[in-house]
Amino acid sequence: MKAALLYAPGDLRIAEVPRPEPGPGDVLVQVEIALTDGTDLKTYRRGHPLLLTEPPARFGHEFCGLLDGRRVVAANSAPCGECDGCLRGEQCRDLAFLSGAYAEWLVVPERIAAVNLHDVPRGVAPEVAAMVEPLACCLRGVERAGIAAGDTVAILGAGPIGLMLAACVADAGGWPVIVGGREERRALAEEFGAEVGDGGSADVVIEAAGTEHAWSDAVELVRPGGTVVMFGGLPRDTRPPVDAYRLHYEELTVRGSFHHTPQTVRAALVFLASGAYPWERLVTHRIPLDALPQLFAAPPVDLLKAAILF
Ligand SMILES: [Zn+2]
Repeated sequence: MKAALLYAPGDLRIAEVPRPEPGPGDVLVQVEIALTDGTDLKTYRRGHPLLLTEPPARFGHEFCGLLDGRRVVAANSAPCGECDGCLRGEQCRDLAFLSGAYAEWLVVPERIAAVNLHDVPRGVAPEVAAMVEPLACCLRGVERAGIAAGDTVAILGAGPIGLMLAACVADAGGWPVIVGGREERRALAEEFGAEVGDGGSADVVIEAAGTEHAWSDAVELVRPGGTVVMFGGLPRDTRPPVDAYRLHYEELTVRGSFHHTPQTVRAALVFLASGAYPWERLVTHRIPLDALPQLFAAPPVDLLKAAILF
Protein backbone atom coordinates (compact mmCIF):
# COMPACT_ATOMS: atom_id res chain seq x y z
CA MET A 1 0.00 0.00 0.00
CA LYS A 2 0.98 3.65 -0.32
CA ALA A 3 1.95 5.58 2.82
CA ALA A 4 3.60 8.84 3.78
CA LEU A 5 6.86 8.34 5.65
CA LEU A 6 8.63 11.08 7.59
CA TYR A 7 12.38 10.48 7.39
CA ALA A 8 13.50 13.71 9.06
CA PRO A 9 12.20 17.25 9.49
CA GLY A 10 11.46 18.50 5.98
CA ASP A 11 11.88 15.05 4.43
CA LEU A 12 8.48 13.47 3.78
CA ARG A 13 8.18 10.75 1.12
CA ILE A 14 5.40 8.66 -0.34
CA ALA A 15 6.45 5.02 -0.46
CA GLU A 16 5.08 1.56 -1.13
CA VAL A 17 5.02 -0.30 2.22
CA PRO A 18 3.46 -3.54 3.50
CA ARG A 19 -0.11 -3.26 4.76
CA PRO A 20 0.11 -3.02 8.59
CA GLU A 21 -0.81 -6.15 10.59
CA PRO A 22 -3.24 -5.62 13.46
CA GLY A 23 -2.34 -7.33 16.74
CA PRO A 24 -4.90 -8.93 19.08
CA GLY A 25 -7.68 -6.42 19.80
CA ASP A 26 -6.40 -3.94 17.20
CA VAL A 27 -8.54 -3.05 14.21
CA LEU A 28 -7.46 -2.40 10.64
CA VAL A 29 -9.24 0.56 9.03
CA GLN A 30 -9.26 1.36 5.32
CA VAL A 31 -8.66 5.11 5.21
CA GLU A 32 -11.13 7.05 3.05
CA ILE A 33 -9.76 10.48 3.77
CA ALA A 34 -7.15 12.01 6.09
CA LEU A 35 -6.84 15.63 7.13
CA THR A 36 -3.75 17.75 7.66
CA ASP A 37 -3.45 19.83 10.79
CA GLY A 38 -1.14 22.28 12.47
CA THR A 39 0.49 19.66 14.70
CA ASP A 40 1.50 17.63 11.66
CA LEU A 41 2.93 20.74 10.02
CA LYS A 42 4.90 21.53 13.19
CA THR A 43 6.19 17.94 13.28
CA TYR A 44 7.18 18.13 9.62
CA ARG A 45 9.11 21.34 10.23
CA ARG A 46 10.88 20.70 13.53
CA GLY A 47 10.45 17.03 14.33
CA HIS A 48 8.64 15.55 17.32
CA PRO A 49 10.02 13.87 20.44
CA LEU A 50 7.50 10.99 20.23
CA LEU A 51 6.85 10.67 16.49
CA LEU A 52 10.32 10.83 15.04
CA THR A 53 12.26 8.56 17.37
CA GLU A 54 12.70 5.80 14.79
CA PRO A 55 12.55 7.31 11.33
CA PRO A 56 11.10 6.75 8.87
CA ALA A 57 7.85 7.26 10.80
CA ARG A 58 4.26 6.72 9.72
CA PHE A 59 2.52 10.09 9.80
CA GLY A 60 -0.94 11.66 10.11
CA HIS A 61 -3.67 11.22 12.72
CA GLU A 62 -6.98 12.74 11.54
CA PHE A 63 -8.95 10.36 9.37
CA CYS A 64 -12.25 8.74 8.47
CA GLY A 65 -12.32 5.19 7.18
CA LEU A 66 -14.13 1.94 6.65
CA LEU A 67 -14.28 -1.01 9.03
CA ASP A 68 -16.36 -4.06 8.12
CA GLY A 69 -18.49 -1.93 5.81
CA ARG A 70 -19.14 0.74 8.45
CA ARG A 71 -17.78 4.28 8.26
CA VAL A 72 -15.74 5.01 11.41
CA VAL A 73 -13.56 7.64 13.02
CA ALA A 74 -11.18 7.38 15.92
CA ALA A 75 -9.30 9.76 18.13
CA ASN A 76 -5.52 9.49 17.96
CA SER A 77 -5.09 8.37 21.56
CA ALA A 78 -6.80 6.82 24.54
CA PRO A 79 -6.20 7.06 28.29
CA CYS A 80 -4.87 4.09 30.25
CA GLY A 81 -7.55 4.21 32.96
CA GLU A 82 -5.04 3.27 35.67
CA CYS A 83 -2.56 6.09 36.17
CA ASP A 84 -2.72 8.82 38.77
CA GLY A 85 -4.24 11.26 36.24
CA CYS A 86 -6.94 8.84 35.17
CA LEU A 87 -7.80 7.95 38.79
CA ARG A 88 -8.14 11.63 39.67
CA GLY A 89 -10.34 12.35 36.65
CA GLU A 90 -7.56 14.44 35.10
CA GLN A 91 -5.71 14.01 31.81
CA CYS A 92 -4.03 10.60 31.48
CA ARG A 93 -0.27 10.69 32.11
CA ASP A 94 0.29 7.69 29.84
CA LEU A 95 -1.75 8.25 26.66
CA ALA A 96 -1.34 5.65 23.91
CA PHE A 97 -1.19 7.23 20.45
CA LEU A 98 -1.77 6.12 16.89
CA SER A 99 0.01 7.51 13.86
CA GLY A 100 -0.07 6.71 10.17
CA ALA A 101 -3.34 8.08 8.82
CA TYR A 102 -1.58 9.31 5.66
CA ALA A 103 -1.82 5.78 4.26
CA GLU A 104 -4.36 3.52 2.62
CA TRP A 105 -4.66 1.32 5.71
CA LEU A 106 -4.23 2.19 9.38
CA VAL A 107 -4.07 0.08 12.53
CA VAL A 108 -6.12 1.46 15.41
CA PRO A 109 -4.54 -0.02 18.55
CA GLU A 110 -6.72 -2.01 20.94
CA ARG A 111 -6.81 0.63 23.68
CA ILE A 112 -8.04 3.31 21.27
CA ALA A 113 -10.45 0.96 19.48
CA ALA A 114 -12.01 0.11 22.85
CA VAL A 115 -12.99 3.66 23.88
CA ASN A 116 -12.33 6.17 21.10
CA LEU A 117 -13.47 4.46 17.88
CA HIS A 118 -16.97 5.44 16.76
CA ASP A 119 -19.37 4.88 13.91
CA VAL A 120 -19.90 8.05 11.88
CA PRO A 121 -23.49 9.30 12.20
CA ARG A 122 -25.47 9.02 8.98
CA GLY A 123 -25.26 12.09 6.76
CA VAL A 124 -21.93 13.37 8.10
CA ALA A 125 -19.36 13.74 5.30
CA PRO A 126 -16.08 11.85 5.83
CA GLU A 127 -14.01 15.05 5.77
CA VAL A 128 -16.22 16.56 8.48
CA ALA A 129 -16.23 13.39 10.60
CA ALA A 130 -12.43 13.34 10.44
CA MET A 131 -12.38 16.61 12.43
CA VAL A 132 -13.53 14.79 15.56
CA GLU A 133 -10.09 14.77 17.16
CA PRO A 134 -9.20 18.48 16.92
CA LEU A 135 -12.76 19.46 17.84
CA ALA A 136 -12.56 17.19 20.90
CA CYS A 137 -9.39 19.05 21.94
CA CYS A 138 -11.29 22.34 21.59
CA LEU A 139 -14.19 21.09 23.71
CA ARG A 140 -11.66 20.06 26.34
CA GLY A 141 -10.15 23.56 26.19
CA VAL A 142 -13.53 25.19 26.68
CA GLU A 143 -14.30 22.81 29.55
CA ARG A 144 -10.98 23.80 31.17
CA ALA A 145 -11.83 27.48 30.65
CA GLY A 146 -14.95 27.21 32.84
CA ILE A 147 -16.88 29.67 30.68
CA ALA A 148 -19.96 31.32 32.20
CA ALA A 149 -22.85 32.52 30.05
CA GLY A 150 -22.08 35.97 28.69
CA ASP A 151 -18.31 35.78 29.19
CA THR A 152 -16.21 37.50 26.55
CA VAL A 153 -13.62 34.96 25.41
CA ALA A 154 -10.61 36.11 23.42
CA ILE A 155 -9.04 33.41 21.25
CA LEU A 156 -5.47 33.96 20.12
CA GLY A 157 -5.07 32.25 16.76
CA ALA A 158 -7.35 32.20 13.73
CA GLY A 159 -6.43 28.81 12.27
CA PRO A 160 -8.79 25.84 12.13
CA ILE A 161 -8.30 25.35 15.89
CA GLY A 162 -9.10 28.99 16.63
CA LEU A 163 -12.27 28.78 14.56
CA MET A 164 -13.34 25.50 16.18
CA LEU A 165 -12.67 27.00 19.61
CA ALA A 166 -14.90 29.93 18.65
CA ALA A 167 -17.75 27.56 17.83
CA CYS A 168 -17.27 25.69 21.12
CA VAL A 169 -17.18 28.96 23.11
CA ALA A 170 -20.35 30.24 21.41
CA ASP A 171 -22.05 26.92 22.11
CA ALA A 172 -21.08 27.22 25.78
CA GLY A 173 -22.78 30.63 25.98
CA GLY A 174 -19.68 32.79 25.68
CA TRP A 175 -18.87 35.57 23.20
CA PRO A 176 -15.80 34.55 21.20
CA VAL A 177 -13.45 37.20 19.85
CA ILE A 178 -10.77 36.07 17.40
CA VAL A 179 -7.53 37.99 17.89
CA GLY A 180 -4.79 38.18 15.27
CA GLY A 181 -4.31 35.88 12.32
CA ARG A 182 -4.24 36.46 8.60
CA GLU A 183 -7.00 38.43 6.92
CA GLU A 184 -8.46 35.54 4.89
CA ARG A 185 -8.79 33.50 8.06
CA ARG A 186 -10.39 36.27 10.05
CA ALA A 187 -13.06 36.50 7.37
CA LEU A 188 -14.35 33.10 8.48
CA ALA A 189 -14.67 34.10 12.14
CA GLU A 190 -18.26 35.25 11.85
CA GLU A 191 -19.36 31.92 10.38
CA PHE A 192 -18.00 30.25 13.49
CA GLY A 193 -19.88 32.53 15.87
CA ALA A 194 -17.03 34.94 16.57
CA GLU A 195 -16.24 38.56 16.01
CA VAL A 196 -12.77 39.87 15.26
CA GLY A 197 -11.22 42.24 17.75
CA ASP A 198 -8.28 43.02 20.01
CA GLY A 199 -9.56 40.89 22.90
CA GLY A 200 -8.60 43.47 25.53
CA SER A 201 -10.17 42.98 29.01
CA ALA A 202 -11.69 39.64 28.05
CA ASP A 203 -13.11 37.54 30.89
CA VAL A 204 -11.29 34.52 29.49
CA VAL A 205 -8.38 34.27 27.06
CA ILE A 206 -7.56 31.05 25.23
CA GLU A 207 -4.07 30.89 23.76
CA ALA A 208 -4.30 28.83 20.56
CA ALA A 209 -1.43 30.18 18.50
CA GLY A 210 1.23 27.99 20.07
CA THR A 211 3.92 30.64 20.30
CA GLU A 212 5.85 31.99 23.26
CA HIS A 213 4.74 35.48 22.31
CA ALA A 214 1.08 34.46 22.38
CA TRP A 215 1.48 32.93 25.85
CA SER A 216 2.71 36.29 27.14
CA ASP A 217 0.01 38.17 25.23
CA ALA A 218 -2.69 35.96 26.75
CA VAL A 219 -1.67 37.02 30.26
CA GLU A 220 -1.59 40.67 29.16
CA LEU A 221 -5.06 40.67 27.59
CA VAL A 222 -7.27 39.12 30.25
CA ARG A 223 -9.21 41.32 32.69
CA PRO A 224 -8.21 41.40 36.39
CA GLY A 225 -9.60 38.26 38.02
CA GLY A 226 -9.95 36.56 34.64
CA THR A 227 -8.90 33.13 33.40
CA VAL A 228 -6.22 32.26 30.85
CA VAL A 229 -6.10 28.84 29.19
CA MET A 230 -2.85 27.72 27.59
CA PHE A 231 -4.08 25.54 24.74
CA GLY A 232 -1.19 25.72 22.28
CA GLY A 233 1.80 23.55 23.17
CA LEU A 234 5.36 24.85 23.15
CA PRO A 235 8.61 22.87 22.95
CA ARG A 236 9.86 21.35 26.20
CA ASP A 237 11.85 23.76 28.43
CA THR A 238 10.20 26.85 26.93
CA ARG A 239 9.76 29.48 29.64
CA PRO A 240 7.68 32.38 28.35
CA PRO A 241 7.88 35.57 30.41
CA VAL A 242 4.71 36.29 32.35
CA ASP A 243 3.70 39.35 34.32
CA ALA A 244 3.96 38.30 37.97
CA TYR A 245 2.17 41.46 39.11
CA ARG A 246 -0.89 40.55 37.11
CA LEU A 247 -0.89 36.95 38.27
CA HIS A 248 -0.62 37.87 41.94
CA TYR A 249 -2.19 41.27 42.52
CA GLU A 250 -4.90 40.83 39.92
CA GLU A 251 -5.58 37.24 40.88
CA LEU A 252 -5.48 35.71 37.42
CA THR A 253 -6.25 32.04 36.97
CA VAL A 254 -3.95 30.26 34.50
CA ARG A 255 -4.78 26.74 33.37
CA GLY A 256 -3.36 24.33 30.84
CA SER A 257 -5.45 22.31 28.43
CA PHE A 258 -3.98 19.33 26.64
CA HIS A 259 -5.55 16.97 24.17
CA HIS A 260 -9.00 15.43 24.67
CA THR A 261 -10.88 12.87 26.73
CA PRO A 262 -13.20 10.05 25.61
CA GLN A 263 -16.10 12.22 26.77
CA THR A 264 -15.10 15.20 24.62
CA VAL A 265 -14.46 12.88 21.66
CA ARG A 266 -18.06 11.64 21.87
CA ALA A 267 -19.34 15.20 22.31
CA ALA A 268 -17.33 16.40 19.31
CA LEU A 269 -18.89 13.80 17.05
CA VAL A 270 -22.36 14.90 18.11
CA PHE A 271 -21.40 18.57 17.60
CA LEU A 272 -20.12 17.83 14.08
CA ALA A 273 -23.27 15.90 13.23
CA SER A 274 -25.46 18.78 14.47
CA GLY A 275 -24.40 20.89 11.50
CA ALA A 276 -24.51 23.93 13.78
CA TYR A 277 -21.44 25.41 12.11
CA PRO A 278 -20.08 25.16 8.53
CA TRP A 279 -17.35 22.67 9.46
CA GLU A 280 -16.77 21.83 5.78
CA ARG A 281 -15.43 25.37 5.25
CA LEU A 282 -12.34 24.37 7.24
CA VAL A 283 -11.27 22.01 4.43
CA THR A 284 -9.79 24.33 1.81
CA HIS A 285 -7.77 21.86 -0.27
CA ARG A 286 -8.35 18.32 -1.57
CA ILE A 287 -5.31 16.43 -2.86
CA PRO A 288 -4.08 12.91 -3.59
CA LEU A 289 -1.51 11.37 -1.23
CA ASP A 290 1.26 11.89 -3.80
CA ALA A 291 0.83 15.66 -3.49
CA LEU A 292 1.24 15.72 0.30
CA PRO A 293 5.04 16.30 0.47
CA GLN A 294 4.68 19.32 -1.79
CA LEU A 295 1.82 20.69 0.34
CA PHE A 296 3.89 20.47 3.53
CA ALA A 297 6.97 21.91 1.82
CA ALA A 298 5.06 24.97 0.60
CA PRO A 299 1.67 25.32 2.32
CA PRO A 300 -0.68 27.51 0.26
CA VAL A 301 -1.37 30.85 1.93
CA ASP A 302 -5.10 30.08 2.11
CA LEU A 303 -4.66 26.59 3.59
CA LEU A 304 -6.76 25.74 6.61
CA LYS A 305 -7.00 21.96 6.34
CA ALA A 306 -6.27 19.73 3.37
CA ALA A 307 -8.15 16.50 2.78
CA ILE A 308 -6.05 13.68 1.38
CA LEU A 309 -8.30 11.52 -0.78
CA PHE A 310 -7.62 7.80 -1.25
ZN1 LIG B 1 -3.88 7.16 32.46
